[in-house]
Amino acid sequence: MENVDLRHVPVVDNHCHGIWRAQNFDDLVSWRRAFTESADPGMPREHAATTVFYRRLIHRLAWFFDCEPEEETVLAARARRDATELVGAMLRAANVEALLLDTGYPPPEEVLPGAELGELGECRIEPMLRLETLMERLAAEHGSLGEVREALVAELDDVRGRGYVALKSIVAYRTGLDVREWSGEEAEASLREFRRAAREGSGRLAHKPLLDTLLHTAFSEAARQEVPVQFHVGYGDPDTDLLLGNPLHLRAVLEKPDYRGMPVVLLHECYPYTREGGYLAAVYENVYLDLSYGIPFLGYGEMLSFTRAALGVAPISKLLYSSDGIGVPELHWMGATDGRRALGQTLGELVAHGELRLSQAEAAGEDVLRGNALRLYRLSG
Ligand SMILES: [Zn+2]
Repeated sequence: MENVDLRHVPVVDNHCHGIWRAQNFDDLVSWRRAFTESADPGMPREHAATTVFYRRLIHRLAWFFDCEPEEETVLAARARRDATELVGAMLRAANVEALLLDTGYPPPEEVLPGAELGELGECRIEPMLRLETLMERLAAEHGSLGEVREALVAELDDVRGRGYVALKSIVAYRTGLDVREWSGEEAEASLREFRRAAREGSGRLAHKPLLDTLLHTAFSEAARQEVPVQFHVGYGDPDTDLLLGNPLHLRAVLEKPDYRGMPVVLLHECYPYTREGGYLAAVYENVYLDLSYGIPFLGYGEMLSFTRAALGVAPISKLLYSSDGIGVPELHWMGATDGRRALGQTLGELVAHGELRLSQAEAAGEDVLRGNALRLYRLSG
């Protein structure tokens, strides 16, 4: 069985984050923290370096730096490189055509500005707007619920005109994907609770009636402008309740006729709910499935499995490549290499099964790696 060769195809990374300006790490533990979603202190110290993902990373870096594949040697070689030079070298080696950046995290002051990142990587940078960050600010600044919603509509009245190619929601991290409709009184009471918590020092919007209500306002705007909304789904740090991160909880939103104009992108292959996400992309015209190869931190076999699951059920026109890289350039870089390889191998299997001709498989690889994203986010105009 031959793999479809996708090594020459540039990627449009449809979901990733900024890269830290400073790339120096004090010690092994702080470096390993970039490769675990766990907040437990013992994880980077004792366990994170034993994942298959991390072992693969060290091997690839040894190849990149031309040194021995030992953690300490690789880190020493890395530390000798200038930070911006390293970021540029990795993005160019990854052959990135465009990065769609979730600007909600890390904070802007910690990361390389978009223009500089684009120059270093010789790629396009397209920012996305994180809804919960905006909502937190507006809920703190304005009086009644009506005023907060009015201010939100004003901020979202022309998403593309303000320079954003998509909206992003982390409601899965806050109150779960079962976004419901609440009465005005329930939402008002929720706003008062948010304000009380904010006065006591916590401005984190995790007040379900309020957050759900504001999301409905945002969805109406997204549907009217046909602007894609990315949802964090599945795997994340333990802040997320993974039971409520199942994409099937989005049913009420997906069933609402008013939102059919809103393209919905389910991020991170919904891991481990890839089949559920693939199913939704197969039955709802406006649902797309992101295949993310940097995070979750998976072994190659598991990446192959989710790629097979996605291609096995969802239309190929609904699948989008990403890295979900954040902080260090290694994730954006290795995600592209792994994504091309897992996709090339899966497409090769489909050719061997007699399901695709080679030319169709090659075109499918191009579509998943870049074409589908260029069309969905309207990047080619
Ligand atoms: Zn992300």
